Amino acid sequence: MDLGLSDKVAVITGGSAGIGLGVARCFAREGTRVVLAARDRERVAGAARDIAEEFGTEALGHPCDVATAEGCDSLIDAAREAFGGVDILVNNAGTGSNETILDAPDDKWQSYWDLHVMAAVRLARGLAPIMAERGGGAILNNASICAVQPLWYEPIYNVTKAALLMLSKNMATEFIPMGIRVNTVNPGLILTPDWIKTAKQLSADTGGDWEGYLQSVADEHAPIRRFGTVEELADFMVFLCSPRASYVSGSVHHVDGGMLRSI
Ligand code: NDP
Repeated sequence: MDLGLSDKVAVITGGSAGIGLGVARCFAREGTRVVLAARDRERVAGAARDIAEEFGTEALGHPCDVATAEGCDSLIDAAREAFGGVDILVNNAGTGSNETILDAPDDKWQSYWDLHVMAAVRLARGLAPIMAERGGGAILNNASICAVQPLWYEPIYNVTKAALLMLSKNMATEFIPMGIRVNTVNPGLILTPDWIKTAKQLSADTGGDWEGYLQSVADEHAPIRRFGTVEELADFMVFLCSPRASYVSGSVHHVDGGMLRSI
């Protein structure tokens, strides 16, 4: 299927690793020009260089912290300068947490709010008018199954991802008259290098069977009894951003191997 993305420009936050990198590669395969945003300057530059080489499309790696207003402004400016505008925004940068409500200080709550919610607000505020000038576009917010089915060790993650879901719904209604579709994906267990690193750390003291550890996580949470690959999720995310999904707006899509326990 031709996704109709070859003349588009996509900004992907958290594009240097894991799911964001997979999404950027999938766009690049379709001929989309990509802007990757992440904090580690060398890693994001390297990821963009590799994508440009492998897929023969233009790729910009922009170092910035999207949890800050300055970082978001610099990303908007960099994308506009490099490619003259933007058609697609994937708000993907994010990370898990581990705390109790009784112990977590205010600044921890604030930092996750800034990363999971304010980054999406600020980037949409800057980029939606630019998309509208080009006839419309798509915004995809990467939340988590934890937005609707919490894991109890990470209340801050659960709450801020749930807020992103509501933000996404509000954006969808506000932006559709501008020709901009806004949707959300709620991934379940997606096997990223970070999961493998964590599994190796957690299994080190008990014999180092990190694959067994990951299998036990999948067995406990996902009826499909395995992690999803980055590619399985990225293909779906890129489809949602494409003109082929032109009637999909304001929706939440679970990509979770059946992990969601409600209808
Ligand atoms: P990774 O940790 O593998 O990658 C995170 C990416 O985000 C990196 O490129 C990182 O680069 C970047 N990043 C982190 N903080 C910032 C910041 N403040 N500003 C700019 N870039 C930032 O994460 P995943 O790929 O696993 O997760 C991606 C998204 O998917 C997250 O929002 C996560 O909550 C969500 N998700 C993941 C699931 C999974 O099983 N993997 C399941 C459900 C949801 P750098 O550190 O250089 O900034």
